[in-house]
Amino acid sequence: MKTTYCPRCHGTNITQYAGGMTGTVLCKDCGYMGTLIIEKDFVKTMDEPRRKIVKK
Ligand SMILES: [Zn+2]
Repeated sequence: MKTTYCPRCHGTNITQYAGGMTGTVLCKDCGYMGTLIIEKDFVKTMDEPRRKIVKK
């Protein structure tokens, strides 16, 4: 499960704007709105999330 957080304040109080149709999100903490989102378990192969390898 991916956790998205705000690139400005690194808060996780993110809501998808317009139902996420446009990929735009809104941060309720700092008011950031945009499409630049960082996902904590981001991997290079975003197209194949089920095949990702978890490294520890
Ligand atoms: Zn924020």
